Amino acid sequence: MSETGSGLPPEIELAVIGAGPVGTSLAILAAQAGFRVTLIDGRPASGANATDTRTFAIVRGSWRLLRATGIGAELAPHITPLNGLDAEDGGTHWFGAPHAAFSTEDLDAGDAGEPLGQMVPAGALQAALDRRAGETPGLTWLRGARFSGMETGPAGATIHLEQGAVIRTGLVAACDGINSPVRQSLGLKTEGRNYGKSVFAADVSLDRPHGGIARQLFTPEGPFATLPLPGNRANLAWYMKSGAAETLAKLPKETIEAELNARFAGFAGEMRLDGPPLSYPLVMQISEKMAGPRTALLGDAARRINPLAGQGLNLGFKDVGALVDVMTEARETGLDPGSDTVLARYQEWRRFDSAATAMTMDLIDRAFSNDNALLKPLRGLALIAANRIAPLRRALARQASADQDHLPSLMR
Ligand SMILES: Cc1cc2nc3c(=O)[nH]c(=O)nc-3n(C[C@H](O)[C@H](O)[C@H](O)COP(=O)(O)OP(=O)(O)OC[C@H]3O[C@@H](n4cnc5c(N)ncnc54)[C@H](O)[C@@H]3O)c2cc1C
Repeated sequence: MSETGSGLPPEIELAVIGAGPVGTSLAILAAQAGFRVTLIDGRPASGANATDTRTFAIVRGSWRLLRATGIGAELAPHITPLNGLDAEDGGTHWFGAPHAAFSTEDLDAGDAGEPLGQMVPAGALQAALDRRAGETPGLTWLRGARFSGMETGPAGATIHLEQGAVIRTGLVAACDGINSPVRQSLGLKTEGRNYGKSVFAADVSLDRPHGGIARQLFTPEGPFATLPLPGNRANLAWYMKSGAAETLAKLPKETIEAELNARFAGFAGEMRLDGPPLSYPLVMQISEKMAGPRTALLGDAARRINPLAGQGLNLGFKDVGALVDVMTEARETGLDPGSDTVLARYQEWRRFDSAATAMTMDLIDRAFSNDNALLKPLRGLALIAANRIAPLRRALARQASADQDHLPSLMR
């Protein structure tokens, strides 16, 4: 990493690389907090990724942060309140069929009628954030521009774009996804594993009401989940061996429906496809650091986790809230928001939660996705304990909903 050399003050205070949900929300919130921000992304100006068939479980704390960006009203017709979570072990046990149920009663009251979270379609979320970013004062959006490299020094960072432009900034936010070119340019290593599995995701209509409950059935091959959508519709996620999900997604609609109903009609009700199916490969990847010289890593650039409890993007929103908080505190105390001291504070705040959540999701995947004679009764008992022991259930619900103490101020 060489010095920027010029010693001149940076022209902008924050350059956000990557306009996915994490980068776009960070750019909006940092600009609203009064920082001069540039958002840079290689994707075309169209905004929403129309081919994304996922619906994200956005938990209570993350939804508060998203509302602070100003997109709540635009998203209102697309979202479904999440009133509860139900996890069931599909295996047979001598003590019955264990399950754990979490509801809004396991959390503090929050704002009037505040649910556990909201189900938000990925395409609608990105479209709303894009529109908001385009009208936020203090935010310059370089669309169709790709990061190609950078140098850092005591006064700031110099970013090079593939198109030849050069940008000087006080702080770089790497929100450029799992393959993060920014992380690679810093030479940061990652650890993780390829699960050898993919998720089949599609919208379906159900023949019975879902009551706003997200339901998950653990089978030896992997979990099957139905996530509530408006009306009697649901977004389903079915975890399978790599290759199987990709093959299933390409089969005719009737064949897919027959397969789904043969396996899961008893659990979910009769399902009819209500949109194109897609498959998503599963990997876990954690960056060795969440900060480098003049740089903070956020979202999937910092870690990609197993999505079985829908926590990945929620971790990314916690990164966003934490970075806005440390930048704001730095400015109030006369510190440089891009200095090593401020970035060390950001990393210290976020690293443990990030790694612990990734490892917990990995552990759940290992424990539930097999037919091991020793693990079977243990995981059943763990579900029963989570269901019956109220303090344990509440602690799990608060952790999963980002409704604890020590949260970034935008999530409280
Ligand atoms: C099947 C599945 C279901 C999931 N469900 C949930 C859920 O219910 N809840 C939840 O919280 N999470 C969920 N997740 C996780 C969630 O999808 C990710 O954590 C989230 O999308 C990451 O967002 P991001 O903004 O960090 O990265 P991305 O969305 O990957 O955005 C990265 C951006 O960087 C840009 N970029 C890349 N390279 C460059 C470059 N050189 N220059 C400029 N720009 C660049 C890209 O164009 C892109 O726009 C799920 C994941 C999967 C696979």
